[in-house]
Amino acid sequence: MKQLHNPRYKKIVVKVGTNVITGKNGALDMAVLGSLTAQIAVLQQQGVQVILVSSGAVGAGRSIVKLSEPLPPVAARQVLSSTGQIKLISTYNTLFEEHQQIIAQILVTKSDFSDRLHYLNMKTCFTSLLQQNILPIVNENDAVSVTELMFTDNDELSGLIASMMDVDGYIILSHVDGLFDMKAGDGSIIPVIDPSMKHFHQYISPGKSEFGRGGMLTKCHIAHKLSRLGITVHIANGRTPDILLSLLGGEQTGTTFLPQKPTHGPKRWIATSEGMEKGAVTVNQGAVTALMAGERANSLLPVGVVSVDSSFMKGDIIKICSIDGTVIGYGMAQCSSEKTLSIMGQNNQKPLVHYDYLFIT
Ligand code: GLU
Repeated sequence: MKQLHNPRYKKIVVKVGTNVITGKNGALDMAVLGSLTAQIAVLQQQGVQVILVSSGAVGAGRSIVKLSEPLPPVAARQVLSSTGQIKLISTYNTLFEEHQQIIAQILVTKSDFSDRLHYLNMKTCFTSLLQQNILPIVNENDAVSVTELMFTDNDELSGLIASMMDVDGYIILSHVDGLFDMKAGDGSIIPVIDPSMKHFHQYISPGKSEFGRGGMLTKCHIAHKLSRLGITVHIANGRTPDILLSLLGGEQTGTTFLPQKPTHGPKRWIATSEGMEKGAVTVNQGAVTALMAGERANSLLPVGVVSVDSSFMKGDIIKICSIDGTVIGYGMAQCSSEKTLSIMGQNNQKPLVHYDYLFIT
């Protein structure tokens, strides 16, 4: 196996997709899993803190359970994931034991990220495991997370964890080599995406992966968002030998999303809370201009609010829209929707969203 000196990151999230670690019938691919676990063990020995987000529960379940009668899709997913998750985690346990690496299993739902206290509690859990040199292995709690509680896919889930844990690198291991340059059309990979690059979506084919839920478009959307928060994101082929060691050794392989200036603390939480907002307000053009003035730290003041579009409590995340309905950002409300209604349009009021709790999209 490749040697690794001076790994380029100290703390990373590695996400492996179903198509990387399972074969055609959903059975776990022991050769790939053996290689990935050995590489992660090397990283840990080199002092890199790793959080592994692994899909594959539903796939593994498919290889164990033959449903005796057709079930509705949600029920089938519940049966397959709850059986497959045991297979998945016990396989990881056996493989990591060979490297004397203790693992922990964490299953989460989307709602775990929507409340700031709960979020901080979860962060403490991950931090404590890493301090003890235990490898957290995360998956969605597919047995109980249905419809609106579901993550789009594990790319979204691991993005939230990467942001929560302030990692410096986020590695998405897929079954393709990176982002194919659709414009060139010759099968070449886009090596680097700069966070200032707009409309890169046109380069990407919107296909879904075969078994997993994710597609390239969601991967890119999340990668772009995290790179804006200061995290370097790699999309690479998890089946390429020694891929993690190559990436951590600084080799250019796959597609790299370069980081922008780092964002920390509550802003990071808010930046990744799209879709979890409890309420919304519309603001006037003056407020839009003030909030978008990147070089100045402006809070959202009640004077700029023109309507309260749904109810919220103090401490909830709210969506901030301009009059034409464009989403301009998210923030944590400093007062309830009721109070906002009574003070909107007025001068000399405390901010509705303080700058430290505001993220402009
Ligand atoms: N949580 C699902 C599983 O373990 C996978 C979701 C996804 O494909 O992103 O099978």
